[in-house]
Amino acid sequence: MKVHFLNCGLMHPRLAPVFVPHLERVPCLCLLLEDEGRLVLVDTGFGTLDVADPLRLGRFGACLLNPRMEPGLTAREQVKRLGFDPGEVGDIICTHLDRDHAGGLSDFPHARVHVLKEEREAALSPGTPRERERYRPCHFAHGPLWETYDEGEGEEWWDLKRIPLRGLPEGLFLVPLRGHTRGHCGVAVDTGEGWLLHCGDAFYVKEELREGSGAPLGVAGFRAVAHVNLPLALYQLVKLRSLLDDVVLIAAHDQFEYRYRLGRPLD
Ligand SMILES: [Zn+2]
Repeated sequence: MKVHFLNCGLMHPRLAPVFVPHLERVPCLCLLLEDEGRLVLVDTGFGTLDVADPLRLGRFGACLLNPRMEPGLTAREQVKRLGFDPGEVGDIICTHLDRDHAGGLSDFPHARVHVLKEEREAALSPGTPRERERYRPCHFAHGPLWETYDEGEGEEWWDLKRIPLRGLPEGLFLVPLRGHTRGHCGVAVDTGEGWLLHCGDAFYVKEELREGSGAPLGVAGFRAVAHVNLPLALYQLVKLRSLLDDVVLIAAHDQFEYRYRLGRPLD
C-alpha cells in the first residue's frame, strides 16, 4: 500500500505561545493510501467549505484554533495535485470527528466514512457542552455514508485491539484509542515495510511516549483540557509506548513529524 503524507490544515492556536510552546504551530497530518487502484483517506483536515467560511468551525473554535485557511491545503486539492480525481476516494477512515479532522468529509460526499459507532453518536448526538462545541453539524449535513464499528468486534493486536474494516484490505484497520473523544481510534496501515499507526490526537508530541520523560509541561496541561477522559487517554499512552519497537506511531498535530515526512519545517 502506497502512503502519501498530507498536511490538511495549519493552525496557530492563540494561547499556545504562552502556555504550550510545543503546539505553537500545528499541522493536521492525514494519509492518502493507494491500494490496487483504490484511494483511501485517513482523516480529512479542514474542507473547502471551511476555507470559504471559517465560522463553520464555530466562533470559539475559529478564534482559538486560529487556522490559516488556504484552499491548497485541503485534502480535495491535494488529491487533485497528486493527479487523482477526488471522486476516486472511495473510503475515509476517521480517527475521530473533531472539526480539524472531519471538516473535509463534504468534499468527498460519495466516500464511505469508517468510524467507531461511539464517535458517530458523540458527533451527531453530543451529550455535553464540550461535545456540542467541538463537533460541527455542518460537517455532517451532506449525509455521510457511515460505516460504523463496535469496539467489541475487535481482535487482539499487541496490547490493543484491531477492528477490520468492511470492504477494505486486511492490512488496514481501526485501533480503538478512546480518551481524547468518546470513540477516538488509531488507524493501522500495513505499508509493506512495516506497520504505521496514525494515532490521531492520542498524543501530540513524541516526548509523551518516552518512558520516564513524560509530556512537556504545557502539553500535559493542554491534554487535561483536550481529552474528554484523561485517565483513559493516559492508559492508552502506556499501551502505545509498548508498540514503539514494532510500529511507527504518528500523531496528527506533531510539527516534528510534519518536518520529517514533508521535508520542510512548518510555516
Ligand atoms: Zn485534532
